[in-house]
Amino acid sequence: MPRFLPLVEILLHAFWPTFCPVCGSLGSSLCESCLKSLLKPIRARCVVCGRDAPCGAHPRDLRVQAASIYESEMRDVILRLKSGEESLGRRLGLACAAVFAKPDVGALVPAPLHLKSRRGYNQSLCIAKGLGEAWGLEVLDIARWADDFPTRRGMSRDERMSLPNDAFIFAPHDPNIHIALVDDVVTTGSTLLSLSKAALAHGITVTRAFAVAFAS
Ligand SMILES: [Zn+2]
Ligand SMILES: [Zn+2]
Repeated sequence: MPRFLPLVEILLHAFWPTFCPVCGSLGSSLCESCLKSLLKPIRARCVVCGRDAPCGAHPRDLRVQAASIYESEMRDVILRLKSGEESLGRRLGLACAAVFAKPDVGALVPAPLHLKSRRGYNQSLCIAKGLGEAWGLEVLDIARWADDFPTRRGMSRDERMSLPNDAFIFAPHDPNIHIALVDDVVTTGSTLLSLSKAALAHGITVTRAFAVAFAS
């Protein structure tokens, strides 16, 4: 039997053609219950080797937790977040905070937006703000790509797989602080590992990392 849309939904669709990628509801970019249904605890992975943490070969602190796999509906949600729906970042952060245990750190630090990005906002910062709001933790936007890194070496896919230690710099900050890194999608862990090394070079200790999704 065909589903006849209520007039209000038809009007919403005409003026604001957005829909939930999970249930298809018009007028909602993502229902709250649908968002929660996409998230579940997934075993932490080692940032160095990508295996389940603790892997036994690398420091226990170098691990990342995610709340989903980057596929189907979650892929749609992340693509929307990166295509202008900035508010999805805070919502993802708030929802993920209920899936992860609150870390014992002084602040959250988002992975920086790439220098060549034209997005205009950093989706990882939006996610970190949601997590920080839920956990009562400060968000410090202190990590940056090194100024000359992309132009100096280009950013081929292979290079991104193994970032050198000087790919990132940290703004001066209290060196005794322990932080958790926040990223949107974790593929190889290379970005997080590089960020951890850059933080350590500035006297800042990374004791955990969080992402919305693992790439696979
Ligand atoms: Zn929905
Ligand atoms: Zn490992």
